[in-house]
Amino acid sequence: MTDLSPSRTASLGAVRSAFAPWNDAAAIPLVVFDRVTKRYGADAAVDDLSLAIHEHEFFALLGPSGCGKSTLMRLLAGFETPTSGRVLLAGKDLAGVPAHRRPTNMMFQSYALFPHMSVEKNIAFGLAMEGLPREEIAQRVADMLRLVRLESFAARKPHQLSGGQRQRVALARALIKQPRVLLLDEPLGALDRKLREETQFELMALQERLGLTFIIVTHDQDEAMTMATRIAVMDKGRVVQVAPPPVIYEAPANRYVASFIGDINMIEGRIAEVAAGRAIVETAAAGRVSVETGEALTTGQAVAVAWRPEKTRIVRAGEAVAGGRMMLAGTVHDIGYLGDWTTYVVEAGGFRLRAAVANASRTVERPIGWDDPVQLAVAPDALILLTG
Ligand code: ADP
Repeated sequence: MTDLSPSRTASLGAVRSAFAPWNDAAAIPLVVFDRVTKRYGADAAVDDLSLAIHEHEFFALLGPSGCGKSTLMRLLAGFETPTSGRVLLAGKDLAGVPAHRRPTNMMFQSYALFPHMSVEKNIAFGLAMEGLPREEIAQRVADMLRLVRLESFAARKPHQLSGGQRQRVALARALIKQPRVLLLDEPLGALDRKLREETQFELMALQERLGLTFIIVTHDQDEAMTMATRIAVMDKGRVVQVAPPPVIYEAPANRYVASFIGDINMIEGRIAEVAAGRAIVETAAAGRVSVETGEALTTGQAVAVAWRPEKTRIVRAGEAVAGGRMMLAGTVHDIGYLGDWTTYVVEAGGFRLRAAVANASRTVERPIGWDDPVQLAVAPDALILLTG
């Protein structure tokens, strides 16, 4: 994992920066995966994975399909047992504790609502199974209906609800048992884009209001970026990087994380010199490039220089640009107009690179067009050095 120097990460503006128990060496994590492996036959779905999640976190497990996200959740919920390693909750080993005795509850992607039961009965189900007094159940169901704003839908059956409402019933049903940790497996997968965005904010507000710990599985990077206090990016049963969203985005640990989260430009090169926290990288595409780094590097080492499209300026060939920037000459290969943004795909030095330009005014005097010779300019503080 990349050693992120404090100078690099401290300046990254985390929205919820006040809440960062993971930086407190004395804080005891709520959930700990301690060198956990889960094998199915010869294949490891989770591979010697260690991870600590703190109370009140909105923690996202992010990665491509099959990387082990759901298996990790099932190990915590008690639906699976580790082949080796330990899963701890509040310092206690969960080995041998059955799922229904764990202070966790899981909301499934399919919602798994009972079709023949009303909203009210669906929400009450878990408590009814526990044999709680009827008045208490009624009170808690009423509280939940209010919490998810479904008071007037109590008597409806699931098929009489919209996708968003069904999602809220599933959420209420999972929350009514007052779990310490709520596990959400692709909770917004069935919703359309607009509803997804609204529901993301609802979920965040709810989590904060209830003061619970949420662990969410998603393959949607925007969703993880929006909601999570921290994201664990996974690949092949392992965690590649764990960090708050701005750090994952601005200081990815390696090429895999950099390309998994958002769009990124990368050019290859070799280390020419290292001095005082900066590396000089010799590149074919842009000549010698100076990049800030906290890593131990050796001369001649193969590295990538990366930067985000929205941190890229595009100007016509020959147009003057303030000094000190990395410059790449190229031609426009493609233009994608997205309304709020325009993305230019530029062929430069054998690479296809992107510049995303905010369309801040309605008209442009002399727009840059297809096949135009252009220059891309990138400020030095936008450059990321990737060794892994
Ligand atoms: P994700 O949630 O990231 O999509 P999963 O945790 O579901 O990934 O799966 C990780 C790997 O483990 C996959 O290769 C999957 O095929 C395998 N796997 C998961 N559950 C089982 C199972 N019950 N039996 C056999 N293989 C499984």
